[in-house]
Amino acid sequence: MTYVPLHCNQCEAAMNPYCPINFNQKTTRCCICGNTFPLPPNYAQHIQPNKLPYEFMEQSTTMEYKSGPKGGNYFYSYLFVVDINIEEKELAAIRE
Ligand SMILES: [Zn+2]
Repeated sequence: MTYVPLHCNQCEAAMNPYCPINFNQKTTRCCICGNTFPLPPNYAQHIQPNKLPYEFMEQSTTMEYKSGPKGGNYFYSYLFVVDINIEEKELAAIRE
């Protein structure tokens, strides 16, 4: 994506498909810390259940953002989230 990700205003987590949206109140709830906050106006104006920003779409579990000053260096970071509520042999396999 060529725009800055939408962050939680409490914990700074990037919004994603696991953050539910209240379409009536134009808010979202951070799936990391549970904070509910209003969507910025550019999101709130156009958001509908069938017209979601890419980061909220079900298939957008992996997003790559390019952000930073124009012409500047970009800093990439990757966050891997692992559900550890899996069988021990599967957990052992991903540790390798
Ligand atoms: Zn948060």
